[in-house]
Amino acid sequence: MSDCIFCRIIRGEIPCSKVYEDDEILAFRDIHPQAAVHALIIPKKHVATLADASPEDAEVLGRMLVLAPRIAKELGAGEGFRSIINTGKHGGQEVYHLHMHILGGQQMPAMIK
Ligand code: 5GP
Repeated sequence: MSDCIFCRIIRGEIPCSKVYEDDEILAFRDIHPQAAVHALIIPKKHVATLADASPEDAEVLGRMLVLAPRIAKELGAGEGFRSIINTGKHGGQEVYHLHMHILGGQQMPAMIK
């Protein structure tokens, strides 16, 4: 998707504070951090939302999950973190390129009890 902001970050057209990269995955700091540590982990393949993921995306999604604690620890959120995937309008998704938020580096407030 040529005009997708995260695809543009992947292509290097928009700068980011990169924290991890491999052939399939990029992770970078959120531009408007909502916690002391706030990073986004994204697949390099453009998948608009989690609801658009197909069975062939399962491996990269699993790799994103497995990478999350490593990235969180490297950024200073080794005592725990919150991972969030907002999906679609009611999920509050603003950027339509699948991404997982990693929030931590502080005590996160309770959300769901
Ligand atoms: P969403 O609401 O879609 O789950 O979250 C999108 C996130 O992307 C927001 O937290 C927002 O701050 C972040 N974001 C949007 N544009 C950019 C950008 O150009 N660079 C970076 N690093 N983060 C961005």
